[in-house]
Amino acid sequence: MNTVTDTFGSLVFDNRVMKASLSAKVYQSLKKTIDEGASLDLSVANAVATAMKDWAVKNGATHFTHWFQPLTGITAEKHDSFISPAPDGRVIMEFSGKELIKGEPDASSFPSGGIRATFEARGYTAWDPTSYAFIKEKTLCIPTAFCSYGGEALDKKTPLLRSMEALNKQALRILRLFGDTETKRVTTSVGPEQEYFLVDREMYNKRKDLIFTGRTLFGAKPPKGQEMEDHYFGVIKPRVAAFMQDLNEELWKLGILAKTEHNEVAPAQHELAPIYSTTNIATDHNQLTMEIMQKVALKHGLVCLLHEKPFAGVNGSGKHNNWSMATDTGANLLSPGETPYENAKFLLFLCAVIKAVDDYQDLLRLSVATAGNDHRLGANEAPPAVVSIFLGEELTGILEAIESGKPYGGAKKTTITLGVDALPKFPRDTTDRNRTSPFAFTGNKFEFRMLGSSNSISCANIMLNAAVAESLKVYADRLEGAENFEKTLNSMIKKTIKDHKRILFNGNGYDDSWIAEAERRGLCNYKTTVDCMPHLADEKNVKMLTEQGVFTEKEIHSRVEIMLENYCKTVTIEANTMVDMVKRQILPAIVEYVKEVSKEANGKLAFAPAASTVYERKVVEKLSSCAEGILARTEELEGLIAGLKGYSDIEAEGCEIRDHLLPKMEELRAIADEAETLTSGKCWPFPTYGDLLFGVK
Ligand code: ADP
Ligand code: MG
Repeated sequence: MNTVTDTFGSLVFDNRVMKASLSAKVYQSLKKTIDEGASLDLSVANAVATAMKDWAVKNGATHFTHWFQPLTGITAEKHDSFISPAPDGRVIMEFSGKELIKGEPDASSFPSGGIRATFEARGYTAWDPTSYAFIKEKTLCIPTAFCSYGGEALDKKTPLLRSMEALNKQALRILRLFGDTETKRVTTSVGPEQEYFLVDREMYNKRKDLIFTGRTLFGAKPPKGQEMEDHYFGVIKPRVAAFMQDLNEELWKLGILAKTEHNEVAPAQHELAPIYSTTNIATDHNQLTMEIMQKVALKHGLVCLLHEKPFAGVNGSGKHNNWSMATDTGANLLSPGETPYENAKFLLFLCAVIKAVDDYQDLLRLSVATAGNDHRLGANEAPPAVVSIFLGEELTGILEAIESGKPYGGAKKTTITLGVDALPKFPRDTTDRNRTSPFAFTGNKFEFRMLGSSNSISCANIMLNAAVAESLKVYADRLEGAENFEKTLNSMIKKTIKDHKRILFNGNGYDDSWIAEAERRGLCNYKTTVDCMPHLADEKNVKMLTEQGVFTEKEIHSRVEIMLENYCKTVTIEANTMVDMVKRQILPAIVEYVKEVSKEANGKLAFAPAASTVYERKVVEKLSSCAEGILARTEELEGLIAGLKGYSDIEAEGCEIRDHLLPKMEELRAIADEAETLTSGKCWPFPTYGDLLFGVK
């Protein structure tokens, strides 16, 4: 007993459990809803609810919750117990189809970006039967979408489901044109690789910056950082190994396919990758994974940091969104085929992605924008803020040959005519990898590498699905009306390559020369959240997103507002934390040490009047001048923070933060870090970078 195969998914109301606990009729009807999006009637919901409750109670649950993903970026839940009074004064455990389908949390404190005035505070949650219910801490969690009473989405799941639907619809049109009558549904699959740091819990508790903001706002560079690169794939330390084992077990119980784990480049940094699944489920699972990582870490006396940049000067954490499109019959549409016809189809889907990424670079960029991720992108440790696609030499060569009509191939050069010749086979080659590309083709999937470690993967996939659906729509419109299918297909593929080849780049994305080149090519380079977020509401983006049915215009505007608000609040909290740490910890520590050194020097002189006190004097002088500099910057920072209250326009406030607040925080930090190097370790009020990065054994 208790082997992985026994416990895997033991806390999930999955297909296996459904099949065993529902009548054949109810099961069929629910399957139809899950697989094909058919609507569900109340009698079926009632039967499912009862089975779900019985299963949950048997597995120790006492409560249920509609589990949802508001725009805060984390998940929310409100627990209700199953108990219901019975006539004899006792209680029974009850759960109805109505309770399963719809919930009404008081939603007034969730961000809505002006969509919902507080007097109409109630939103509602609606069951998402395509993601399995699960048990977490004695509570049956029902994945749900979260909307306002007017039907506007207030969460990250609703638009994700809509984007998957949009892509399904357009991809099916294309498949039918290729004579595929079997495929019922096209879904996108995602495997998100998750990076994180682990630090000792006791040390964490001594750092207000980590507690309040998730990142260190102060900290001098330790003598050793990541320069030896000896941590990457290094031996996993016992405490970390114990954490990982425990984490895997918890994730497996929830049916999460945690598969690989290893140390990352930075000390104390690690990565976890699951086996890919349908985007919707992968998103739910990634949210759960982040939550459970943090919980399990605490049990091991550790804290899991999911911030994009917990430590300055040390690589930050990202998340790689591996993405592909597949049919319900099991075909990966991004996999090059065996026959010429399959290859033409592959090339069309590939071109749809190329066109989508070029046309909607801005949307992809802003889908990963947060105050935290601003520290990573373009800082030579993660892809630049410029979106581009890596295809590898071989595929690029093929596309170039198609565009120019010139022969392709090594010794035996052939002219590629789509629908006639099979493409040369290109291997899924792991050596042909480009780790600096924001959007890389890796044989049968794309890896979008700009996501930050704490991002919900929802946003990136919403934009990706919507943009690709749009390309496919353009293609399908043209092909459906075409007189000569093959000819039209050929010319469309050629045109796409010609029009969008500027987005293709196989070189080093970290190189400054690429940024200059990208500018010449006319690619967007939005360095910060404030630079890119307003473009969500650009006319072309509103047009595409509303036509694809992914967002309403109102939702788009509300999201710009919410994301900018989030940026402003995040940085303001950081600035306030700095002020607090300076006044209550850093300056008092400097004073203490200066006092100690001065006292020591005086004592020395009293004892030996001719002794040298050059060292003591220098330390006191340097530290006093640091303290003065720290004080001045802190006062300036306080002035800037106070000034933010005067802004009513959130974009203007964001610009002020980007242009003045953040640079001032940098200045303050630089002097405080210098002071740290001059002060005795005993007097310094919180653990150093060295302690935090190398403290877990
Ligand atoms: P890497 O070399 O980047 O580690 P892997 O094959 O191990 O490549 O995959 C990394 C991630 O990509 C894993 O989460 C994996 O499940 C996922 N993945 C693999 N194939 C696909 C696919 N067709 N669609 C989406 N994700 C995929
Ligand atoms: Mg990878």
